[in-house]
Parts: sequence; C-alpha cells; structure tokens
Amino acid sequence: MKNIRNFSIIAHIDHGKSTLADRLIELTRTIESGKMQEQFLDMMDLERERGITIKLQPVRMNYNLDGIDYIINMIDTPGHVDFSYEVSRSLAAVEGVILLVDAVKGIQAQTLANLEFAKKQKLVIIPVINKIDLPSALVDDVVDDLVELLDIDKSEIIKISAKKNINIDKVLGAVIKKIPAPESSIDAPLKALIFDLKYDSFKGVIAYCRIASGQIKKGDKIYLIAARSRGDTKDLGYFIPQMISKEGLYAGEIGYIATGIKEPGIIRVGDTVVKIENREIEPLEGYKEINPVIFVSFYPESTDDFTALKEALERMRLTDPALTFDPEFKEVLGRGFRCKFLGSLHAEIISERLKREFNLDLVITSPSVVYKSINTKGEEILIMSPSDWPDPSHIKKSLEPWVLLEIITPSAYIGGIMELLGDMKGKIVENKYFKGDKVLVSYEVPLRKIITGFHDNIKSVTQGYASFNYEFIGLREGDLIKLEILIGGNVEEVFSQIISKDEAFIEGRRMVEKLKKLLPSQQFALPVQARIYGKIIARETVKAQRKDVTGALYGGDVTRKRKLLEKQKKGKKKLQDRMGRVRVPSEVFFNVFRR
Ligand code: GDP
Ligand code: MG
Repeated sequence: MKNIRNFSIIAHIDHGKSTLADRLIELTRTIESGKMQEQFLDMMDLERERGITIKLQPVRMNYNLDGIDYIINMIDTPGHVDFSYEVSRSLAAVEGVILLVDAVKGIQAQTLANLEFAKKQKLVIIPVINKIDLPSALVDDVVDDLVELLDIDKSEIIKISAKKNINIDKVLGAVIKKIPAPESSIDAPLKALIFDLKYDSFKGVIAYCRIASGQIKKGDKIYLIAARSRGDTKDLGYFIPQMISKEGLYAGEIGYIATGIKEPGIIRVGDTVVKIENREIEPLEGYKEINPVIFVSFYPESTDDFTALKEALERMRLTDPALTFDPEFKEVLGRGFRCKFLGSLHAEIISERLKREFNLDLVITSPSVVYKSINTKGEEILIMSPSDWPDPSHIKKSLEPWVLLEIITPSAYIGGIMELLGDMKGKIVENKYFKGDKVLVSYEVPLRKIITGFHDNIKSVTQGYASFNYEFIGLREGDLIKLEILIGGNVEEVFSQIISKDEAFIEGRRMVEKLKKLLPSQQFALPVQARIYGKIIARETVKAQRKDVTGALYGGDVTRKRKLLEKQKKGKKKLQDRMGRVRVPSEVFFNVFRR
C-alpha cells in the first residue's frame, strides 16, 4: 500500500486537464502505443464533440521511480461549474490533487472554487502551470498568484506544456514524492466508498469505489448500507481506463465492483459497501446531498415513451447523481418528469444524452429556478415551474434564490462587465486585483438572471477572457410576476416565465419576436402573444405559407374567387382544430432561451 498514490486533476475548463492526463497515460505506458487518441479519458462521444469533460474518469497507471514500482490512480474531472459535483466526489477518493492553471488565462473562477474543495478535504496540492509553450504565456504572473494563493515557495510550482510534452515526468515525480500513500488497514473489515455508478445490463449496477479499508474478492457477498440492499461481487477490477477484471481489491485502491443489483433506483453515490456479515458496521462519511437549483421538465413526444423515459432517467441518475426528478402531469404535454439540475449546461447535456443514449424524443420546458411564494394566509408554497404560480391576488410576497457570482476578468473588460451586471440589478460586493492585470468581481445577483444566456454574454463582452462561478446564498424578496406566451391563442406553459415586473415588457417583446423567427410557418397565420395579468403586452404573427388557390382563375369572377378563399379559410380553421394546437419543435426551446 505504501506504493500507491491516488490523485485527481482539478482545473478550470480548457486549462488542459485531459491533455495532461493523456501525457501521463503515455508516460506510464498504460495504453499500448498506437491505440492512444487525444483526450483519451473523454470516453463519451458528446465529450469529444464538445471538447469538454462531463464525467469523472478514473485510470490506474504503473510507474517506476528510482527503482521502485508505484501504482498511480488518477481521476480526471470536468472543469465546468455545472459539473462540480463530479469534482467534489472525486476528491473524496484521493489524497492529493494537481491544480492545473493555464499560463495564458491564469487563475480563473473555477480554479478558486476547486482549490477551496481541495483545501477543505485537506488534500496535498501540487501546483502546475500548463501551456508554457505559448508565446502569450504569462508564466511569472501566474507563479506570483499561486505563491500568494497557496502560501508556498516559487520552487514548488511545476511549469509544463501538456501539448508539447514538456516536464511531464516532473509532475509524476511530485505526485509520488508529495502525495502520501493511503493510510488504511488491509486487515480491518471491508469498507468501500462509492464515488460513481454505472449500469450494465449483464452485471447490474457497477460501483466505482475507493477501498477505504479491508479487501474484497470476487464472489464475496456484499451489503450496501444506505441502500439496505444485498449484492454479489459478480466481478471487480480496475480502470485502465476500460474495466479490467481482477481477483481482488485492497485497502487504498480505486476500482469497480459489479454488484449484480438490477434496480438502478435504490443505489446512491456516497454509500458504503461492506461484507454481508458486517452489515451493522459504522458506514463511511458519505457525500452531502447536492442541492440542484434549476428545474426543467422533460416530456416524451410520444406518450407511450413515459416508462422508457422513467427508466432512462433512473439510469442517468446513477451516473449523474446531481440529477433528480419527480413525475408530473401537464394537460398540454401529458405525463413527464420535472428534473432538477445544477445549471443550464447540465440540463442541456442530460437532454442530449437521453436523446442519444436512449433514443428518446423529448419536449423540454424552459429552465426555471425554485421560488417561494407566501400567500395571504401566510402559507409558504414552493414554486418549481411557472405553472405552479398562484393567482396573483393570493400572493402576499414572493422570494427567489440569490447567488454570489464571482467573475475573474482582465481589467480591460471591467467596463463591459459592469454594464452587463448593472442590467441585472444585483449588488457589488467587492473587486479584488490579481497579478497580470486581473480583477475578481464579486457580485450578488438573483440566480434567475444567470441561468440562461449569461455564459454567452460574459464571453462576448470579454472576448472569452472572463470566467465565472457562483454559489447559492439564500432566498430574497423579489417583485415577481408570471409572463405567459400564447401561440395561436393558447397559453404555451413551456414558454411561461417568472420574471420581475419591470422586465416583463422587454422580455415579452423579445420572446414573441424570437418565436416569430423560430416557429415553422403553418398553413394558417399564427399569432404569437405575450401576456401579464391577463393583458396582452406584445404580439407578432407568423405568416401562413399561402397557396394561391385562386391563381388558376383569371378574369373578374370576384364572387367565385371570394368563395374559394372562404373555403380555404374554413379548411385552415378545420386543420387548426383537428391539430388542437401547433406543435412546437423541441429544438425551438433552447434557441428561444439562448440570447
Ligand atoms: P480540459 O478542459 O482542462 O480537459 O482541457 P483540454 O485538455 O481539453 O485542453 C483544452 C485545449 O488546450 C485543447 O485544445 C488542448 O489541445 C490545449 N492544450 C492543452 N495543453 C496545452 C499546452 O500545453 N499547450 C498548448 N499550446 N495547448 C494546450
Ligand atoms: Mg477535459
């Protein structure tokens, strides 16, 4: 065990975690040469297409340093704030982290957030500056910032280029020398922490585990304490990064256990695996329940797919415990699920994965935050979607979630950022200056202001140089109302929003104009309206694709012409009635809410 090292790479998105992981995999010859491809650990197609890591991914490597063989377990983690639960879970399975910082971009919002996680877990932190090959690298500035942040000596910082393969061996050397071996006993009873889960149709639920103590062999009868369920060790082994079967797993190691359990619904990450005879043993400290802040409803396009969607969500929840869902019913859409997410990228990724991995066609409602409304009788009502909004005459006051937003930006863009923030009616907390002319802006703002479009806006006012992170700080009173959108005269709850009163006119106008552009034209003219308190505040019309039925008639037979047009009109009316309402293609949804 003294030759085992477990670590994770943490960094802001795009700072080069996956590229560094590639180099480490090559250096340790974990993968046969020729089989290597870029961003090797990003195993999902979606990760490769988008160039982002969504899932944590462990890999076990062997390395010889000064004549001693080491087993090195690395967990690659995502960098985007919406996936930070993946990071925090990974950190509970390791003794140290590589804090990777891009030499051009410098310290970013997510660098700070991840660093806080690592410090809280009392992990050894190895600071590494990446991309030193780039001419625009500001290595000295980043060194100064890291020295101040971590209270360390300059000499402890390793400068690398993951792309050009410079100083990668120094990184492995530091992992071995600075990160302690796991401290746990092989002779103690088995306790394994589940930090991730996956479903396999043959082997059942597969648990990604850190063996905290003891050992486990193939065939052992196991028990999952929180789930209160028995399992069999159908298979176990390591990640290289594919799963490779072994005979046993021992204290200090990271690997997988195929439990044989077939119901994905009952098992959660953070659970402790023990042997059946020790089922009364004290479990390991699990994870704190994550508190998703954003709600989106998913409905199957075909009502027959309700059960398929339920099963898909249950499996998805195994690999993504930050996702939660409850069944719900809406008259227009039928039976579906109200799902909670950590952010809108998270929602978008999950809906995309449901479509791809489970072949489901979905209708998706607009993202919303959870509100609280206090009615005239003093009762509190949780509002998880615009359709829950009470009759305005019953509302005494309404509360909405606020977050502390932290933006790191080159100071040249501070003007643009302030303008953007000014429109959001939040509150500046402080500005703090870093080396290399960077500013950390802390700002309190209603969460609803940043769940859609904020990412794109901030990137555009700073040419991509700023980054942000946010955390929930509490509920505050807001002047909120419900903005309804009517398509063809029917309220489409899908597009309803809870917003502040003073924004309603601008937002209503924006929505109808956008929908006019996005909605496919029908055989009849389609009015698109915005409404508050029962009053129409904006209106546009999607023109009909008109076939000129009178074209073949020449001359002046006006009555005949009129009759024909009259007939056409009736036909359209019938068509509209038969269809009930206009179907809104689901891709219109994300496009409407992307500003
Ligand atoms: P991640 O989001 O932290 O996993 O970052 P990736 O490993 O996906 O890298 C983001 C981008 O930076 C990719 O286009 C990489 O090719 C590039 N990159 C990573 N390391 C280096 C480096 O050392 N030098 C240069 N020039 N580019 C790098
Ligand atoms: Mg990555």
